[in-house]
Amino acid sequence: MVNYVDVNNMRRWISDTGIEPIIMGIVGYLEQDYAKWPQFDKTPRVAAHSAEGVIELMPTSDGETYAFKYVNGHPSNPGNGFQTVTALGMLARVDNGYPTFLSEMTLLTALRTAATSVLAARALARPDSKVLALIGTGTQSEFQALGFRAGLGITRLRAWDTDPAALDKFIRNVEPLGFEVVRATSAADAVAGADIVTTCTADKANAKILTTGMIEPGMHLNAIGGDCPGKTELEADIVRNSTVFVEFPEQTRIEGEIQQLEADSPITELWEVLAGRAAGRTSVDEVTLFDSVGFAIEDFSALRYVFDAVRGTDYATDLDLIADPADPKDLFSLVSRAPALLA
Ligand code: NAD
Repeated sequence: MVNYVDVNNMRRWISDTGIEPIIMGIVGYLEQDYAKWPQFDKTPRVAAHSAEGVIELMPTSDGETYAFKYVNGHPSNPGNGFQTVTALGMLARVDNGYPTFLSEMTLLTALRTAATSVLAARALARPDSKVLALIGTGTQSEFQALGFRAGLGITRLRAWDTDPAALDKFIRNVEPLGFEVVRATSAADAVAGADIVTTCTADKANAKILTTGMIEPGMHLNAIGGDCPGKTELEADIVRNSTVFVEFPEQTRIEGEIQQLEADSPITELWEVLAGRAAGRTSVDEVTLFDSVGFAIEDFSALRYVFDAVRGTDYATDLDLIADPADPKDLFSLVSRAPALLA
């Protein structure tokens, strides 16, 4: 049997456990997996592009466990009543290839993206960071805010979205949680006075959500919305003038902010910073940029974390997903008594 977590059980588990403890739990698993980064099978995700968006498969393996995520990104979806990003994911044993765990991953992607933002910001942002600007207050935004509170103690937010209803929703959702939120009047207004800036907008365009004049010395930019060819958020000069950190260069060169720069522009891999093999932030005035596109190992970590947490509980159910006859060579036995065959 394959352990299975559907949306309702994921929702129940998150409600019972708490979003911040889960994000920090995933950060712990990310740290374990980033520490053995060279051991993983890594490939840029397989993307099927269309006029409306992209559908992607994100596989990886550490030699013992294999994982993949199915995920879409369709920026115009909310206008039609659908979400921009939905996902599901699976774990399997490498030794016999059998799936062990299947899970909804739309909620889990928001949690793992927040956890990855925290992982990077703890390594790269100024330790005295107090104010987070959030540009784009859609699906990811509340999870980002909670992650930054759990991981960096940040409670002061400056939020901006071109959609006033999304901004209303964000403020309505996070103010009761104890955040102090400034409703900004523009991206520039949101960024003014911020120590960390998360951009999480969705638009299939080379957007300029942040322009050079908005950037102050010492800022940490957590750019997570530009994650496809032709879909970026920052003016190229910002990227050029920042110290850039990435997940998996082969994928980020295609999908990240650095797609705007020369193919050999300087970058540092985040795992090397975490392993002490490369420098992170080197001065209080440096502008650091985490050019995040989302990488398969992060989903591997998130799936592992949920699987470990829910296995043997009533949040996980059994799914009869793999045809497994008593005689492994007699698959036919499962259908040999079918009336249609005997008739
Ligand atoms: P969403 O559609 O729910 O929210 C995006 C928000 O951005 C919307 O509210 C929209 O009004 C706003 N927006 C669009 N253009 C804007 C602009 N110019 N200025 C200000 N706001 C603007 O999408 P989401 O699920 O929150 O995802 C946000 C982005 O993050 C998407 O592009 C998605 O592909 C990406 N993403 C990246 C990762 C990662 O790991 N890096 C993970 C998940 C999602």
